[in-house]
Amino acid sequence: MTSTELPAIETRRLTRVYGTGPTALRALDEVDLIVPAGQFVVLLGPSGSGKTTLLNLIGGIDRATGGAVIVDGIDVGRLDRRALTTFRREQVSFVFQFFNLIPTLTAVENVELIAGLTGADHADATAALDDVGLSVEVDRFPSQLSGGQQQRVAIARALAKSTPVLLADEPTGALDRASGEGVLALLRRACDEHGRTVVIVTHDSSIAAMADRVLELVDGRIVVDRSVQPERRPR
Ligand code: ADP
Ligand code: MG
Repeated sequence: MTSTELPAIETRRLTRVYGTGPTALRALDEVDLIVPAGQFVVLLGPSGSGKTTLLNLIGGIDRATGGAVIVDGIDVGRLDRRALTTFRREQVSFVFQFFNLIPTLTAVENVELIAGLTGADHADATAALDDVGLSVEVDRFPSQLSGGQQQRVAIARALAKSTPVLLADEPTGALDRASGEGVLALLRRACDEHGRTVVIVTHDSSIAAMADRVLELVDGRIVVDRSVQPERRPR
């Protein structure tokens, strides 16, 4: 098998238990999943079903209790601290549920800092902000931006950091419908034009129409795994 045939993401009996003893909580329960490179996956499921936990394990910001997660052939659970840092820097971009912008950096500086980890420069950062509809606000600090604008900065940051895998946790939660659809179209483009593998967590099932594949989690298990035919996708 050549490296181009490797799945972008693979999990094998991936398990995450929080706590120990009688109060232990099985947030992910032996999840088996293969995501081919370039797929656009939407992850649905009720609150507490394990969506963020799964995303965090794929992105190397949490450690599994059992099983394995393999991203572009890299067994994430086996990486030491240093290798894990490199992995997070080079392989994955994250749009966090609560944006996690750096408050003392302006919008464009936030994008530059993160995107710069993969070699993107000031022009790339400005272009990404322009793509999400923020061009006059680039020099504002997060506290001077609305929730929706902060979310768009967070999305620009992930778009400009051109890693093979892009993970987004409820990326349209703070946006009105029109901006939400605009952002989804950008994420879709990251997938179609740049071959990036995208996994989006949402509880808005209308977003699922944009996906190649819809997964649904309940109690830490995948209960639905459904392909969406391209001709049924709005363009
Ligand atoms: P979702 O993103 O689908 O809402 P999460 O992955 O955040 O779900 O959480 C799954 C379950 O694990 C929930 O019951 C949640 O309370 C629990 N959980 C998440 N993170 C932690 C943590 N750091 N410590 C303890 N329990 C956690
Ligand atoms: Mg969550």
